[in-house]
Amino acid sequence: MKVTFPYMGAVLIYEKLLQLFGHEVIVPPRPTQRTLDLGVKYSPEFACFPYKVLLGSYIEAIEMGADTVVTSGGSGPCRAGFYGEVHRKTLRELGYDVNFIVFDDIGRDPQLFLRNLRKVKGRASWPQTCRNVWTAYQLARAVDRLQRLVEVKRAYELQPNSINLAFEAIVSQFRSRGNTPAAIAALYRAGLDRLNAVPCREIPQRQRIRVGIVGEIYVVMESSINMNIAQTLNKLGCEVSRSMYISDWVDHAVWPKIFARKSGARLVEKSAPYLEIGIGGHERHNIGNIIQYREAGFDGVIHLMPFGCLPELVTQSLIPRIAEDWQIPVLTLALDEQSGLANNLTRVEAFVELLRSAKRSMAL
Ligand code: SF4
Repeated sequence: MKVTFPYMGAVLIYEKLLQLFGHEVIVPPRPTQRTLDLGVKYSPEFACFPYKVLLGSYIEAIEMGADTVVTSGGSGPCRAGFYGEVHRKTLRELGYDVNFIVFDDIGRDPQLFLRNLRKVKGRASWPQTCRNVWTAYQLARAVDRLQRLVEVKRAYELQPNSINLAFEAIVSQFRSRGNTPAAIAALYRAGLDRLNAVPCREIPQRQRIRVGIVGEIYVVMESSINMNIAQTLNKLGCEVSRSMYISDWVDHAVWPKIFARKSGARLVEKSAPYLEIGIGGHERHNIGNIIQYREAGFDGVIHLMPFGCLPELVTQSLIPRIAEDWQIPVLTLALDEQSGLANNLTRVEAFVELLRSAKRSMAL
């Protein structure tokens, strides 16, 4: 099989997992304007923005030779649950006859999950399959921890782009040598030393501006379509924490619920006064995360939502009340193929200026 996957965040993780199973992996190119154009051209107009980006990304990977797409589904009433089937149908109508392997929540249909796993694991034994999955998970956790550090330290780097260059070198080491949990742990420690050695400005704790990012999973994780929001804020001198990294998504969506981390349940509890039921996306986690960022002393939150995303429209409608109750500024940015970068950038700059002046007046 020549396998590809959705381009979302740290693609090294999916690439490594599929390679460990012995597949030829076609890594899709990072989404560009061409990806968007292809996705928009062949998607229904009302489709969610992530759906369009993924469609364009699949077409590019198929043009590179992929014959199988391994992806995830979605549970609940939001449209993510239909993505796999509708993408498959659209691609077939365009003349691309590719296999789709769609992993849904294991609790929803354990037999289907196992059938899909058999297809992906190929000839690997079950113990080897467990080892491969565990290795990929360890890789995700290591890369995510370093990425979190990048999104803090980059706000203070003395030499522009020095943190990015260090991180790219670390990722390349993981790509070539991160094949076992022991190797990943050693590379993680070396990566940490490397990032900590990058010269940065010393800023007193009370002057630091910290911004949390919440929102729909795809736009939070994929920098190519979210105006590279983490880096944009870092350049404006803000530390950033995103509510979602790949390992969080695995904890939330892949591991059986009995192994799920308690932090997810705590977020849902925090959101309960505002939203009692889940409506399909990560809206309850996002509400919980806004409150959690406030409790952790963050200065503000940016909420990212794909234009027309129902779960995040609900979050957006609740944000004024949450912001008032918890006294935290929240800026919502709607993203789609039409969203003007310059307009959003101006709003982000104004938001950061507001946080900075609030910080200054608190210090007086
Ligand atoms: S969460 Fe929003 S953008 Fe994502 S699939 Fe659901 S409706 Fe679409």
